[in-house]
Amino acid sequence: MSIAPATDPVDLVHLRRCVDLAREGLDAGDEPFGSLLVDASGAVRFEDRNRVAGGDHTRHPEFEIARWAAANLTPGERRASIVYTSGEHCPMCSAAHAWVGLGRIVYATSSAQLVQWRAGWGLEPGPVAALPIGEVAPGIEVTGPAPELVDEVRELQHRLAERSR
Ligand code: ZN
Repeated sequence: MSIAPATDPVDLVHLRRCVDLAREGLDAGDEPFGSLLVDASGAVRFEDRNRVAGGDHTRHPEFEIARWAAANLTPGERRASIVYTSGEHCPMCSAAHAWVGLGRIVYATSSAQLVQWRAGWGLEPGPVAALPIGEVAPGIEVTGPAPELVDEVRELQHRLAERSR
């Protein structure tokens, strides 16, 4: 029995899909991160996973979502959208999310958790400070982590860490 508060069931369904996308990315030789956008009616409109293995390290799914939303949704639709993601947005993606005017963010695991795990596995920090979303985009409503999924995401990140040795 966990004493952590349970995640909203609808949120958990979408986060579950994000973690599956993250696993798909890892299995395809990429990094394990997955994200999707849900519109005001509750429909999933766009989903993607990390695609940095080709060498372009800006190809995060949250960034793709922001670009897609700017091209395909009205400002009102963007504000009413929710972005779900397996790992909290990095500063680049937080900024893109805010610049295109998207709504709430729900993540399964936080950047602070990822930083702590990676340090524990002896990995060097990345080139960008792991600022929480709220420090980059203070107007965005944020929910997370989802305790139900933390162990699974940690396991995916650990597989990546082992592979990059
Ligand atoms: Zn990012």
